[in-house]
Amino acid sequence: MYQANEQRYATMPYRRVGNSGLKLSALGLGLWNNFGSVDALATQKAIIHQAFDLGITYYDLANNYGPVPGSAEENFGRILADDLRPYRDELVIASKAGYSMWPGPYGDWGSRKSIIASADQSLRRTGLEYFDIFYSHRPDPHTNIEETAGALDQLVREGKALYVGISNYNGAQTQAIMRVFQDLGTPFIIHQPRYNLFNRDVEQDLFPVLQAAHKSAVGFSALSQGLLTDKYLHGIPADSRARKATIPFLHPEQVDQTLTTVKRLNAVAANRHQSLAQMALAWNLREPAIACVLIGASRPEQVVANVAALKNLTFTPAELHEIDQILAD
Ligand code: NDP
Repeated sequence: MYQANEQRYATMPYRRVGNSGLKLSALGLGLWNNFGSVDALATQKAIIHQAFDLGITYYDLANNYGPVPGSAEENFGRILADDLRPYRDELVIASKAGYSMWPGPYGDWGSRKSIIASADQSLRRTGLEYFDIFYSHRPDPHTNIEETAGALDQLVREGKALYVGISNYNGAQTQAIMRVFQDLGTPFIIHQPRYNLFNRDVEQDLFPVLQAAHKSAVGFSALSQGLLTDKYLHGIPADSRARKATIPFLHPEQVDQTLTTVKRLNAVAANRHQSLAQMALAWNLREPAIACVLIGASRPEQVVANVAALKNLTFTPAELHEIDQILAD
């Protein structure tokens, strides 16, 4: 029987999400990969136990996470029922709707029909009564934002979500949907963008919009799916994401293309007495718009290593300049 570490709140910082009442652990655990029906349940449990034992309270799901789609929610629901049920009120559990989930015209995007049905499916798969945060996973160019916002608002009014978020919306789209949320009185608090050393567009386009509205971001792919770590410095390990046939989003060519930059960044990290992964996470957390940074992990040891990033979150101006120079070259 799992018993959570009694010291779990001793060192993790909790950062406020915009001007809401909610705080999130500085690092959150993402279940996009490594929690599907193709992955060993024992490893999944070990990763989640390790995360919670180190004070990670935020767990990030979506309808389609797996593979197969839906299986990450089912597995999380199983682990919750087996081990985490006594701790439900210590957890922030999020899910999303928007990417392809079931066949036909209602299985994706942002219609009221799709979002409400998807959220109901996600609640059934996880066995939860409500999600702490429910996101629109991507903007829908063919649905009025009033409809998408209204569907998220309805989830809150029906008690199926406490807060709502959006993901992958650009600055202008964010501004537009925020106006609707404001009119409806929806507790919209958070945006989930891709943000890492290789993907910085949001610094110009999105973060000023969020900060002006007193909202926060939770960044995804902070390690660029593993590229921003030392794991590919000496070749591509057989058990890495770049080699896994079940994960089609990271390819060996991307490893080759980024290797020179990664080696230089790794040297900066070494001077800070951090691994590259730790520096990449700390670098994300230096950004005031970021409340929380999501990490993916294929084993518990990666969670331990990544949480150790929190021991050194400060950068000197010279370090930041050197990183900017490397990325500009
Ligand atoms: P990361 O950039 O954190 O990459 C995670 C991968 O990096 C791991 O699977 C592992 O790869 C490797 N890794 C992690 N820690 C270490 C370490 N210390 N040393 C070496 N390698 C390490 O994140 P993801 O791209 O997986 O995204 C994280 C979460 O963000 C997702 O689970 C999801 O919740 C969310 N997300 C949201 C999206 C959206 O559209 N809203 C899109 C994408 C992600 P390996 O398997 O090779 O060991």
